[in-house]
Amino acid sequence: MRFLRRALLFTVVVLVAIVAGAALWAQWPRTPPSGEDVAAPGSGPVTVTWLGVSAVLLRDGDSAILIDPFFTRKPAKLGLLTNRPVRPDEARIRDWLERLQIDHLDAVVVSHAHYDHALDAGVVARLTDAQLLGSQSTAQIGRGAGLDDKRIIFVEAGTQVQAGRFRLRFLASRHAGATGGRPRGTIAEPLVPPAGPLAYRMDQTWSIVVDHPRTRLLHHGSAGFEPGALEGVRVDTVLLGVALIDNLPAYLDAVVGQVAPARVYAVHWDDFTRPLSEPLRPLPVGVDLPAFFAQARTRYPAVRFQTLPLGDAVALPRAQEARTSSASPDA
Ligand SMILES: [Zn+2]
Repeated sequence: MRFLRRALLFTVVVLVAIVAGAALWAQWPRTPPSGEDVAAPGSGPVTVTWLGVSAVLLRDGDSAILIDPFFTRKPAKLGLLTNRPVRPDEARIRDWLERLQIDHLDAVVVSHAHYDHALDAGVVARLTDAQLLGSQSTAQIGRGAGLDDKRIIFVEAGTQVQAGRFRLRFLASRHAGATGGRPRGTIAEPLVPPAGPLAYRMDQTWSIVVDHPRTRLLHHGSAGFEPGALEGVRVDTVLLGVALIDNLPAYLDAVVGQVAPARVYAVHWDDFTRPLSEPLRPLPVGVDLPAFFAQARTRYPAVRFQTLPLGDAVALPRAQEARTSSASPDA
């Protein structure tokens, strides 16, 4: 009898141990395959979604920012030549926000206040409860769109702003083209649309360093540069404006050569007088994509030069430890 009781007890203990072991095994965190993320909310790749001109959506699953949104893409060519008054097309903007599944943005950022970068910025910020970040002219575009002053952040050279998990740093740059960018000047009063494209005057052009714990990027929306402005900056990816380049080798050396990226995506090459619903075409003047890619790849063969697909999220490369640790002068 005693033997039987002991045998039964032993069996029960073994069974409990097996069940507990199996339960523990099921819960146990697995070692991730090398080089991949441990699955945790918001730990997927940071993605970039290109939306024509130099408009890009950056997001990581938790935070999202939109730089230079321009969904309206009006007026068409003749209207542009005659400075025909234009207003943000709110229906078109809402369509795109819905399509991109955006209901909130941490920031709407404007690289410079020309209409093909800034026309929609105030409306997008208002519709997405975002902060609007930009120069004095950009602030007036925000006010004209009905954005509360509390939601407008006026930036100067060197300003840093945290937007969700993205940290933005604004570096003074120059506009592309021999004229240095027209129309020029500070917009002095709230710019209430409709207004002619020439009312969108540029006071400052920014090259924007976007820092995220998992990747680092430079948004360089206009193809000019301030000599030495990018000294000490290192990034993984550059979004590089390619319209109206004056001197391509000098431009490449001042931007790509300085920041040593793994990838460069050419932006601001498409004809923005055509809507996004029609096939994109290069600007008829001021852009030569084949020549750009040929020269860029010859000069910097280790860098991947590409364009981005319209409206599709592309994963950005992960920050390289050595690169970020050796290149954070302000960290
Ligand atoms: Zn411009």
